[in-house]
Amino acid sequence: MNKFLRPGLRGLKAYTPGEQPRDKEYIKLNTNESPYMPGPKTLKALSLEDMEDLRLYSDPTQLKLRKKVALVYGEKAGIFLTEDNVFCSNGSDDIINFAFAAFVGREKKVIYPEISYGFYKVFAEFYGADAVEAPMKEDFALEVDAFKEKGYGLKIIANPNAPTGMTISIDEIKEILKSDREAVFLVDEAYIDFGGESAISLLGEYDNLLVSRTFSKSFSLAGARLGFALGSKEIIEALELIKYSTNPYNVNRMTDRVGLAALEEEDYYNKNCEKIAKTREETVERLEEEGFKILPSKANFIFLKTSPYISGEEAYLSLKERGILVRWFNKEEIKDYLRITIGKPEEMERLTEELIALKKQKGSGK
Ligand code: PMP
Repeated sequence: MNKFLRPGLRGLKAYTPGEQPRDKEYIKLNTNESPYMPGPKTLKALSLEDMEDLRLYSDPTQLKLRKKVALVYGEKAGIFLTEDNVFCSNGSDDIINFAFAAFVGREKKVIYPEISYGFYKVFAEFYGADAVEAPMKEDFALEVDAFKEKGYGLKIIANPNAPTGMTISIDEIKEILKSDREAVFLVDEAYIDFGGESAISLLGEYDNLLVSRTFSKSFSLAGARLGFALGSKEIIEALELIKYSTNPYNVNRMTDRVGLAALEEEDYYNKNCEKIAKTREETVERLEEEGFKILPSKANFIFLKTSPYISGEEAYLSLKERGILVRWFNKEEIKDYLRITIGKPEEMERLTEELIALKKQKGSGK
């Protein structure tokens, strides 16, 4: 026990990030990063002048970046957005953090799915929130009705969900938004660029919707730490209140520049997303032919059932020994699953071969 920590935090179970081992070269399929490099313009975004300017603080308003985000995403969704609808952050985890700080409290509960991104639970505990973990259906689909109930300050889903990769429809999102206009509904779209349908088009109709995005996956910029959220002016103002009360310079100068450059070559990143989605479909087909069960994914990862052939933990450890890193969660309902990031075709080829070899080694399991 840490005697310096305030009592309220002594039982807190922090989020465990995926491994970033340095001991040897792995085929790294454990943290949903992009296997492809940032685009040519992004790579050249930082000049010597930009480096010299590091002596100055970054622009706390990120005005240029927010204007660009509003333009690009407004156009794509066919709605009118301005910088007042955009909030930029140090990765999208920051947005979730600020949303908890702004919308959840003693008098306001939070709800999120029982099987979802692990950080939601950590923030709920950190903020001492009254949290409801909505149970999933047996096939890991979301129980939409639970999210229609009133009395919450914040409702969160990830679409596609993590770690399942499964999506919910825009109509279901609409139903949730319509049923309760008091609570902020945060749709975490970290993985939407790989095949799901974005809720951004609903922003014109619903002032209780907040959509978060990240540059970490589809934009190959996990190390730059850049996220953004789109919402009504009132929701964005609430997030800004938290930002200006904690860390006004939450996006650094380098990341601000790099993010802007990335948005200027969106086509390059769209093509990568298409490649990743194609590799995902090919990988799923091969593994299903071999008898593996895989949940229907629209993300840059798949959720594969290792049983009845081998336990999830054993499969994770064996793959690691063979130089392939995937993610295994020590949680009862999903302990016989692996979350596998979609890498380059040749990496997925290796993964498939190793999984087939493991299955053979352990027998058919029947
Ligand atoms: N949401 C979900 C569902 C995620 O899986 C992740 C990545 N771990 C994040 C948000 C946060 O990503 P980042 O902070 O890199 O933007």
